[in-house]
Amino acid sequence: MNVDGTPIDELSRSWDTIRKNYQTSRNSEYDRTVRECATRLAADPGGEAAYMWTFGLVVMAPYVTWLPGEGVLRDAMAALEAADRALSDQPCDHDSHPYESHDGEDDMYLAKRPSELADETSEWEQDRPRDEWRCPRNAAGFARVGMDIVDPGSVTDIPPRLPVDAQHTIESLSALLHGYPKPWTDIDEEISSQAWNLSTAEPADRAGHLLVVRAVTWYAVSGMVRTKSVLDDLFKAVEKTLPHFAGTSCAHEWHATLPDSGPEAAEVGVILSSPGGRGVYERDRLESGRGAPLEHVVCPAFMAEIAETTLTVLREGREELFGDRDTSRVDAEYLRADGRLEIEKIAERLDDTSWNEEYVDDLGLWAARRYEQTGDRERAVLLLTAYQAMENSYPSPPLPVARGVLATMRAVAAAPRPGECAHGDEHPTLRSAEFRRGLLHFYAPEEFPPPEGARSPEAWTCPRFAGMVADECIGGLEDLYEDEDEDEGEGED
Ligand SMILES: [Zn+2]
Ligand SMILES: [Zn+2]
Ligand SMILES: [Zn+2]
Repeated sequence: MNVDGTPIDELSRSWDTIRKNYQTSRNSEYDRTVRECATRLAADPGGEAAYMWTFGLVVMAPYVTWLPGEGVLRDAMAALEAADRALSDQPCDHDSHPYESHDGEDDMYLAKRPSELADETSEWEQDRPRDEWRCPRNAAGFARVGMDIVDPGSVTDIPPRLPVDAQHTIESLSALLHGYPKPWTDIDEEISSQAWNLSTAEPADRAGHLLVVRAVTWYAVSGMVRTKSVLDDLFKAVEKTLPHFAGTSCAHEWHATLPDSGPEAAEVGVILSSPGGRGVYERDRLESGRGAPLEHVVCPAFMAEIAETTLTVLREGREELFGDRDTSRVDAEYLRADGRLEIEKIAERLDDTSWNEEYVDDLGLWAARRYEQTGDRERAVLLLTAYQAMENSYPSPPLPVARGVLATMRAVAAAPRPGECAHGDEHPTLRSAEFRRGLLHFYAPEEFPPPEGARSPEAWTCPRFAGMVADECIGGLEDLYEDEDEDEGEGED
């Protein structure tokens, strides 16, 4: 089958290639294909073949929203508008048309439709008959679908649809929040942009953007973000939003149960951030019979609660990650009444396990701060404690911890080291089980029997050993906060 000398199948394939690779910028071949399709439609917008060119533009519309060459968007939009004008009032006997139930997931089958329609003998698997598909009013409906993809919200009388950039945001955030950011994602930038989206949101989109910020906040305070300004951006955006919701009340007996996993929570937020997305949400809810009605999700009184909770999480997270840490409160845990170290507890907390993660940052900083105040044997223990705690910190030590431990480690590394060791045995091993038993015996030989291969006290307190441990610790910490090292974490961005 040919149309104006070009096989329809060939056209369909070229359209569908563009649909699949729509995240492409300024591709001149793609631009030519879109333009040609738009030109054909604009030449005879009310004609016999108009439906075909319209389908082509719908299929390629996501690319048009991305970053096509100069004038491509304008030409595509003008052709679709002309088709809608020329076709929407033409008479027909149909009660309904296929475009009315066409949604984003059906786009991938649309490129094949022209050849199926052109060849009456080909197999027809659609619910609706061919003549409804070829009807001018259906083509007009599809022209509006195309316009809605290119310029979300610009037309009515079409099924709701999630904007292309919202789909892209869902994809990027889902990967990031699962811990596998897309190669194009700049993590700080991606999170800060969600704060920006909330600050600048249209009133109706605010709740959705707040829910996105709620989701990225968990990630930002988890220690995965080492830039304080990102947390500041989120905080300011929520703070600015709160007054729009605060003081409202509602008659709802209940509100939606929001997802508590980051990727899902972010997805719901993105969906609710646009009129098209909210339409999709309600349609899916009615079709599936699951989920809370929209007004039970975006209710201002509910959103005020969400904003308050998010601010609390951000305030605490910022303090935890960037605030000054008072380590005197852990004295009671790691010191005995007689002032000696609670060595068993310290050794236990240095085991590299996930349940120790919540202790190691404070333990490491506490040990580093105490280092200067004690005698040789205890010093060796504190140095190794700070070192191991930093090794086990997950995902990495917060800024004040890294800074405090670095100060001690740099002093140790700068101390003079003898050319040779004063002991005949090897230095202690830092592997967990051996290290733990060795440390206990070294610090309190009267309480803990020597483990196999116990090292001499001189090996534990050896200045060369201390220097090596300090060097290694510095190597692991000093690049973590490159930008913030000089300005006490108050970086501008
Ligand atoms: Zn019709
Ligand atoms: Zn409510
Ligand atoms: Zn030595």
